[in-house]
Amino acid sequence: MNKALKNLVIAIDGYSSCGKSTIAKDLAKVLNYIYIDTGAMYRAVTLFAMRNNIISNGSIDTEKLEKLLPEIKITFKQNPETKLNETYLNGENIEKEIRRMDVSNNVSLISTLKPVREYLVKLQRDMAKEGGVVMDGRDIGTVVLPDADLKIFMTASPEVRAERRYKELKAKGENVSLEEIMKNLAERDHLDTTRKESPLRQADDAIILDNSNMTPTEQLDWIVEMVNKKTGN
Ligand code: C5P
Repeated sequence: MNKALKNLVIAIDGYSSCGKSTIAKDLAKVLNYIYIDTGAMYRAVTLFAMRNNIISNGSIDTEKLEKLLPEIKITFKQNPETKLNETYLNGENIEKEIRRMDVSNNVSLISTLKPVREYLVKLQRDMAKEGGVVMDGRDIGTVVLPDADLKIFMTASPEVRAERRYKELKAKGENVSLEEIMKNLAERDHLDTTRKESPLRQADDAIILDNSNMTPTEQLDWIVEMVNKKTGN
């Protein structure tokens, strides 16, 4: 592997549940890069806020959360069995908990807050500074890593996204309906694209990947080709 390929910074942004993390994980594995799931970081702050009664019934005690932000330590550790990165909050494995529907229902409110974004963006930039990283989220190509070597903007039809999410949650044993998921996705899309702070939008230099009718393997082949184009391989 040449040096340029070893050190690329790859930003993947897009709508909720359009398969960003699947492709980002697969790509990181193929390239032997670090994968950083920034959505998990917003989910970790949300779980912290829920546990500390900072958020309930749609209202947030922003002052309290801002004061407690420095106490929120988020790390990723590889699970030796699955080889997948898992999210830790102050040393506790919260990977499973942050994927729950109640966390999904609150996360887009937490992610509108400027102090939260500033705190997490700093951590994210630190994590990417050595290069050799695939980072996925909503504002990676536009705000967190505007100088990324390759920017992908992912999208898929709302029906396809909801169906995928439904299967994922069902497989984990969560009792949710397709309607509930459609509603959650529509709400998150709305909040994520219309918020004042770093709204979800395609960076001018991002390449679009609409994966509505693509298998994970087809997507991986496509993105590896994009990487090869960048590195001249
Ligand atoms: O990617 P995931 O669906 O886990 O992200 C959860 C939420 O975190 C999103 O709906 C969005 O509100 C927020 N988020 C964000 N910026 C990022 C990543 C996620 O605002 N870079």
